[in-house]
Amino acid sequence: MNVPELFGEYVFSRAVMKERLPRSVYKEVARVMEHGGSLTAASADAVADAMKCWAVEKGATHYTHWFQPLTGSTAEKHDAFLSLPDEDGRVLMELSGKKLIMGETDASSFPSGGLRGTSYARGYTAWDITSPAFIKKQTCGTVLCIPTVFASYSGEALDSKTPLLRSMEAVSKQGVRLLRLFGKNEVQHLVSFIGPEQEYFLIERKLYEKRKDLVYTGRTLFGAPPPKGQELDDHYFGKIRTRVGSFMKRLNEELWRYGIPAITQHNEVAPAQHELAPFFAQANVAVDQNNLIMETMKQVAYENGMSCLLHEKPYAGVNGSAKHNNWSIGTDTGENLFDPGEDPEHNLQFQLVLACVVAAIDRHADMLRETAATAGNDHRLGAQEAPPAIISIFLGDQLEALVDRIVTGARKTVTAGDLNTGVSTVPVLHKDATDRNRTSPFAFTGNRFEFRMVGSSDSVATSTTALNTIMAEAFCEAADALEGAEDFESACRAYLKGLLEAHRRVVFNGDGYSDAWVAEAQRRGLPIIESTVDAIPVLTREQTVATYERFGVFTRTELESREEIRYESYAKKIAVESKVMLHMAGKQYIPSVINYASSLADAVASAEAVGMDASVQREILNEITYLLRKTQDALNHLKEVYRETDSMRDLRKMAQNYRHVVIPAMEALRAPIDQLEMVVDSDFWPVPSYGDLMYNV
Ligand code: ADP
Ligand code: MG
Repeated sequence: MNVPELFGEYVFSRAVMKERLPRSVYKEVARVMEHGGSLTAASADAVADAMKCWAVEKGATHYTHWFQPLTGSTAEKHDAFLSLPDEDGRVLMELSGKKLIMGETDASSFPSGGLRGTSYARGYTAWDITSPAFIKKQTCGTVLCIPTVFASYSGEALDSKTPLLRSMEAVSKQGVRLLRLFGKNEVQHLVSFIGPEQEYFLIERKLYEKRKDLVYTGRTLFGAPPPKGQELDDHYFGKIRTRVGSFMKRLNEELWRYGIPAITQHNEVAPAQHELAPFFAQANVAVDQNNLIMETMKQVAYENGMSCLLHEKPYAGVNGSAKHNNWSIGTDTGENLFDPGEDPEHNLQFQLVLACVVAAIDRHADMLRETAATAGNDHRLGAQEAPPAIISIFLGDQLEALVDRIVTGARKTVTAGDLNTGVSTVPVLHKDATDRNRTSPFAFTGNRFEFRMVGSSDSVATSTTALNTIMAEAFCEAADALEGAEDFESACRAYLKGLLEAHRRVVFNGDGYSDAWVAEAQRRGLPIIESTVDAIPVLTREQTVATYERFGVFTRTELESREEIRYESYAKKIAVESKVMLHMAGKQYIPSVINYASSLADAVASAEAVGMDASVQREILNEITYLLRKTQDALNHLKEVYRETDSMRDLRKMAQNYRHVVIPAMEALRAPIDQLEMVVDSDFWPVPSYGDLMYNV
């Protein structure tokens, strides 16, 4: 495999454009990509034609505007390049500039949260020129995918990408103001970068298909723990098994063709859990790439007789999956604003930026928490394997000492120092200045922050949008306060000291998993938001609306629509899970257990008929009968509360009821069935066990 040669093969990259477009058109495209604006109609036609020719040479027959509606996944509707047949019945392959730039579609079946009644069904897709077009080889044909945003007739965002792009512009504009104060007049704009790490599970497809819970909900709703889980810590970074290895090889190859720089691959903590991380990229491009990564993972797994599980918690009792969002902000001149440099003690710009981050996160902790709240992620956050549901910042020793010095004047400098292993043949190494803290939801990792709350199946667009917006606000306020200061340096020192004093309560370097931290966070007045239904109202709180509106990222109406969509999707997810549980318990588990109980009863009868000791058979039968009764009672109860909840009219109350009434009823049904799994003859058990699922790839 010649990697440099195949890298980007599927992408209509800048290099391809340079080669295929007239010089003046290429220049215009580059200018719009870098500085915004729009192409002239003639240039758009030229780009469209070049794109079409390139795609057709690669076998494409269709094109699509590829977008990210609020369902959380991507959407595509294919149109063939065909022109109307001429009088001789011949056709051409064509794509006009108009079709490249804008599409119109019936949007009525996408979630809109009241933004668009079904009678006003139009939705528009518009080309995001900053993210490259690419081809996708599918069984239905090779399709040219044009990344787009998706908006309603009146311009409201119906996707997660539009607000992301708006937030990128906002943070750029305010950040440039700040940099001007440091004399950086050459900087024209800032770019927000993200590097999303993607965790996933693999599972044998034949077994997956036997589990209705996995098929319908992406996670197991039943299952007794296997004899061995992750307690030996032997899976993390372990040798990659043969079948998983071929999957990874194929996956990398495909991703590289998409121009996605997949770099890191390894086994994760739980059995059959793995991770892939690409190099970071400009946020909107990275979001597109992450969507393609998830899609390609599923596809390649399928081709290899497996299924890829992207759910946050496929199995109870072992770690769930995250999508750590590594985030930074850089200048168009190549400077990373989060890089402390050699000497952070004397780097005033870095100190101000750091103070802005601390202030932004403290002010809007709940806004950030909301971006990671989903029904699936509720199983992770706050459990002893993922960040707690409390937002705090880990700075590490060096920056913590810096903050200390700024606020209190105390002098305790921490430098990284050397790492001496005591082995003479190993050179003495220079250490990082910060250790890692796995328990922190928002950790400084040397030149970026890692937001570790995001769930594995979620779009990273949402959290990045929030991060950029709250930073735009902090930059804007700093610039407002410092522009026109007579003595900029001392004004800046005083300003950042004030910020750190007011907001350092959000900095926490200790163990985020400990109970002591929950108590301490309460004492500090940090918001503790336990579940999705508690997080959703944050979206339309006055402070949230004011911040998003001020920087043009979301309008109030857009936030209200998102609140509605979030409640609805939460309620629907739990509704499906309850129905699957009722189905599996009623049609699979209970009948199988009854069969086994009957065979035991026969065994008791026949043993006793010949005067044999049947006490063991009887004991098992008694236990099973008891658990079977409990199961049936729990099933009846779940049925009842599900019906009640499903008929509620108020979305918020309905979601709350799912959280506080239905979920406990689901847990009550799972418990006796998992106990039964431990006593019933495995030949009678109707579905593969956890052990089968986790140890068969
Ligand atoms: P970890 O060791 O924390 O698991 P990984 O190597 O798996 O980290 O992933 C780190 C991610 O952070 C990668 O996607 C990497 O490209 C990204 N990253 C590195 N530097 C930056 C940066 N300045 N801004 C944003 N992301 C970054
Ligand atoms: Mg990693």
